[in-house]
Amino acid sequence: MHWPSPTVCLRLSIFSSKPTYPMPVTITYSRTNKKLKEAASAASDYLAGEGLTQLLAQRTTPFKDTVPSNLTPQELDALFKSTTLTLHLREYTKPVGVNGAFDPNYPKNLYYNTNALSRPVCEITSTLIHESVHALSYALKGYEFPHSDEGRDAPGYKETAPYWIGDNSQATLCGTSLTSEPIEIEWIDDSTREAFEKTIVADGVGIDAE
Ligand SMILES: [Zn+2]
Repeated sequence: MHWPSPTVCLRLSIFSSKPTYPMPVTITYSRTNKKLKEAASAASDYLAGEGLTQLLAQRTTPFKDTVPSNLTPQELDALFKSTTLTLHLREYTKPVGVNGAFDPNYPKNLYYNTNALSRPVCEITSTLIHESVHALSYALKGYEFPHSDEGRDAPGYKETAPYWIGDNSQATLCGTSLTSEPIEIEWIDDSTREAFEKTIVADGVGIDAE
C-alpha cells in the first residue's frame, strides 16, 4: 500500500486551479520573442479566466453593432469560455505603425507587428485581446461583434466590443488608464495585403494551420 505520490497530488492541484471551461479561446506562439510569448500567454489567461469575466461584469448594456443586438456582455464572456478556438500568433512588419491585425482569409491567425515591440507586455496583450474579439466574431455563425472600418475615427467606436474590451483590458492589465492605442487593421484589404503578406515571418506553422 502506497500513499499517493507527490506527482499525483501536483497534477490534481494544477488541474483544480484551471478554469472549469472545457475548451476556451487560446493563443499559441511558436517563435522566440519573449514579449510575444508572455503576451500570448497573458491574453489566453485573460480570455479564459476571471480577467475577462470581471471586466465584462462592469458593463450591463450590449455593445454597439453586435448581432444579435441584445447580446449581453456576460453572454459574450460565455462565448469566449465555451468556444473551441486556437489562434496562432504570427509576426509581420508592414504596414509600419499598424500594431496588430486579423485577416479573415486566415481566421485562425492573429498578427503582431514587430516594429511595435517597445510597448510593455500589458499593452501588447491588450492588442491580442482586441484581435481575439475579431477572431471569435468571425468563428461564430450567427454572431458578430464588429467595429467600423474607420476604427477610432468612427463615432461611438468606444462602445464596440473590440475597442471596449481591448482598451479596458489594457487599463486593467497595465494598472493605468489607456496609455497607447492598440492600432490595428481589422480587415486586410487589397491595398495592404501584398505588403502585409510579404512581411509575415515564417515560424514553422502553416499559415492556415488550426
Ligand atoms: Zn479591430
